[in-house]
Amino acid sequence: MVDRGGSLRPLDILAIAAHPDDVEQTCGGTLLREAERGCRTGVLDLTAGEMGTRGDPETRLAEARAAARVLRLSWRENLRFADARLENTLAARMTLAAKIRQVRPRVVILPYWEGRHPDHYRACEIGYDACFLAGLKKLDLGEPPHRPSKILYACAYANVKPSFVVDISDQFERRMEALLCYRSQYGGGEEGAALFPTESEIRERLSAVARFYGNLAGVRYAEPFVVKEVMLVDDVVGLPVRSL
Ligand SMILES: [Zn+2]
Repeated sequence: MVDRGGSLRPLDILAIAAHPDDVEQTCGGTLLREAERGCRTGVLDLTAGEMGTRGDPETRLAEARAAARVLRLSWRENLRFADARLENTLAARMTLAAKIRQVRPRVVILPYWEGRHPDHYRACEIGYDACFLAGLKKLDLGEPPHRPSKILYACAYANVKPSFVVDISDQFERRMEALLCYRSQYGGGEEGAALFPTESEIRERLSAVARFYGNLAGVRYAEPFVVKEVMLVDDVVGLPVRSL
């Protein structure tokens, strides 16, 4: 997706994901919320999902562009790495590092580092390594060095306690709308029907997950994240989420 402004101004947040339609399930509400506060948000999908039972790559890329508009992304691209056999090779790390230098995000969102699908945890590993490489001054990738200051791990599908959650009550319906842009995946066709959730099933699943994390924080819907560092608090008196 071409940058709306025609130039590559730095992004505030970049989400890196294995497949088109991943961010729409894990951190799309947070991206939309940040875009609404005036941040520049972007998504880099590593594969086009061409090994999926349903939908060809061109269809899924077109669906990803439609979802990007709903999520108000400033930028979205797809690296077209090999789906279902994503590997943390030097070439993959260097390609991703060069892209990170182009878009210069302050914050990077990665998939959580464990999961059922190997592409998801490999995307996490490649993403972390590439963020590190992107900051090496002596590594020539044709763009000035840049290292993001923060990495967040989107953990909606991991059974772990989040470090924090983001209230997406006002964004939840539009995040669902973005996910349903992937008609080839959630359109209710016959092919792969046993494996793929229908629209009503995906809606029920995603609202249950978002409602669960929202409930932990006393809001309706939320998205969970893990960070490896501690969270620094400025004012303990103003801390949200009631203890009792
Ligand atoms: Zn995925």
